[in-house]
Amino acid sequence: MVFTSSHLSPKSSAKILIVDDKIDNLNLLTTMLSAEQYEVRRAVSGKIALQAVQGFQPDLILLDITMPDINGYEVCKQLKTDPVTQNIPVIFISALNDVFDKVTAFSSGGVDYITKPFEISEVLVRVANQLNLTAARAEVVQLNQELEQRVEERTCQLQSANASLEEEVRQRQSAQEELRHKAFHDDLTDLPNRTYLLTEIEAALELSKTQPDYQFAVLFLDCDRFKLVNDSLGHAMGDQLLMAIAQRLAGILPPDGKLFRPGGDEFMVLLRHIACPLQVETLTEQILEQLSQPFYLSGHELYITVSIGVALGEQRYDQPEDILRDVDTALYQAKAQGKAHSQAFHPKMHQRALRRLQLEHQMRRAIREQEFALVYQPIMDIQGESESVAGFEALIRWHHPKHGWVSPDDFIPIAEETGLIIPIGQWVLEEACRQARQWEICAQDPAFPLYQKPWKMSINLSVKQFSCNNLIPALDEILESTGLQGDRLKFEITETALMENADSAQTVLAGLKQRRIELAIDDFGTGYSSLSYLHRFPVDTLKIDRCFMTPPVKSAAEESSTSTSNAAPNDHDLRIIKAAVNLARDFGMDTVAEGVETEEVLAQLKIMGCTYGQGYYFSKPLSSHEMNQWLGRVEQQAIA
Ligand code: C2E
Ligand code: MG
Ligand code: MG
Repeated sequence: MVFTSSHLSPKSSAKILIVDDKIDNLNLLTTMLSAEQYEVRRAVSGKIALQAVQGFQPDLILLDITMPDINGYEVCKQLKTDPVTQNIPVIFISALNDVFDKVTAFSSGGVDYITKPFEISEVLVRVANQLNLTAARAEVVQLNQELEQRVEERTCQLQSANASLEEEVRQRQSAQEELRHKAFHDDLTDLPNRTYLLTEIEAALELSKTQPDYQFAVLFLDCDRFKLVNDSLGHAMGDQLLMAIAQRLAGILPPDGKLFRPGGDEFMVLLRHIACPLQVETLTEQILEQLSQPFYLSGHELYITVSIGVALGEQRYDQPEDILRDVDTALYQAKAQGKAHSQAFHPKMHQRALRRLQLEHQMRRAIREQEFALVYQPIMDIQGESESVAGFEALIRWHHPKHGWVSPDDFIPIAEETGLIIPIGQWVLEEACRQARQWEICAQDPAFPLYQKPWKMSINLSVKQFSCNNLIPALDEILESTGLQGDRLKFEITETALMENADSAQTVLAGLKQRRIELAIDDFGTGYSSLSYLHRFPVDTLKIDRCFMTPPVKSAAEESSTSTSNAAPNDHDLRIIKAAVNLARDFGMDTVAEGVETEEVLAQLKIMGCTYGQGYYFSKPLSSHEMNQWLGRVEQQAIA
């Protein structure tokens, strides 16, 4: 067999321990290996070899089998049990005449063997082979370690990527949750919103269809005059109050009641599993009572009331929206009764709501078809020896092609709600100014009853008109086109209109003053009863509401009846009239008593110092033509 070492590249600096008791062998091998640049050590016995390996740490051991103290197999076995030496490859050396047991050699841990006499190339190849093998094994071990380390690093990276992925998923889930929450809840109070309510009503409707005994109700609460809180104390306080209301409501609700905030100053309650309608009634009363208690917020004592509409969930409803429509109608009715009322829905209200809708439609047509007309009611100076005409109040009438004359009490509120009051009010302004100018022209004739009299035309302005930016420019245009001077006019607005537009009112009123238009507070005594505005705004006249003149209060429908009441104002009303007259005097204002129907009332008003009177006692509202005749008659009487 020919062995070549040229293709092998053993680590030339490799350390080799030769163990043999024969010096010749030792010498031969040492020479052979040293020539190949191996670092060689020698041991002449097994014992010495076992000691030498501890310090020398060879890369390979050439081990003789037959030795006097410990034989090679035994040495090898011991080397393999020591962790320091167990990985050193051992090549056995055997003489041809040795009894060489290959099985024992390999099983004791040897990796190869060389037989004597040595053939140099064979020895070198076998040595190089083993060293290469060891080196390759070490490389494999190192590669394995590196691989393991890389796997470990990668695992770490993956784990951290996984962790950040999990975090991202968690964040997304919570963002989604938040979005979902936002979609179904109100930001301010965190109460469920209208969308949420619709789904809940839908579920309740489903249940009522499968369980005939199941009853539920929806309550719609709207704060009365909440705008006033926002306007006077600011929106932050308004928000605080809304939260406090929500809290108070939540405290009253039974376990089966759920509170919602659809928006603004509105709240809704879904009451499930109700045993009888009385239960709902009790709850609405409780709510009205609880909310009538003052709220103490940031040093303010606040009072607020709510109006409540109620609708019972019934099987006839198909859609949740239908219940909301009805509860809204009920709320509207509750509001119409004044502050702090509740009203349950009744199907008849549908007809009323429908009628409102029809009226709105018909009013639009009435504007186009010019079905509106103005009538005029004289306002009399009652302080002189005999009463004389001090002005007129222009009052609108609607001549409906089918229903005849419709009272403004029936259509003005709807016109205000729908915004139709703007074009209607514009027409009233134009028409009243045109009529005033016409009477001015007539009054240039000494024969005309108004000759040289400083009378005024009073015109009612609605809240919407008053808060409309266009009021002053529109007015200028009318004054310009009719040729009327502003000082001929007096505008009547209610306390509510003034208070609800306190901010913009200043500018509008300044504009009116500039044009020397006077301002009267209409229906005084029925509104806010907050007198603070009197010194803030340039009010010229207080019109004391007619409800204080002839108890019981008369309805507008009574205007058409010819009978007049003989009753004089009762003590309580008298005191109010007196207070109003005195108040007006203190503020440099004059007073008009509305609804003067009897001589007794007139006499009392005169005594109290009321400046003007208006009412059926003098005249009902008349058309301009009728008014001309009436003026003529009054003039005749005065002359007589
Ligand atoms: P108002 O401004 O307080 O008008 C006085 C109302 O009292 C008028 O009712 C008048 O006809 C009635 N009245 C006058 N004297 C007596 C009396 O002795 N006894 C009784 N029982 N009633 C008397 P009318 O014309 O039905 O108007 C009702 C309300 O409609 C008005 O109250 C006013 O608020 C509103 N209105 C009328 N015309 C207009 C208008 O052109 N524009 C606006 N925005 N509102 C108007
Ligand atoms: Mg009026
Ligand atoms: Mg009035």
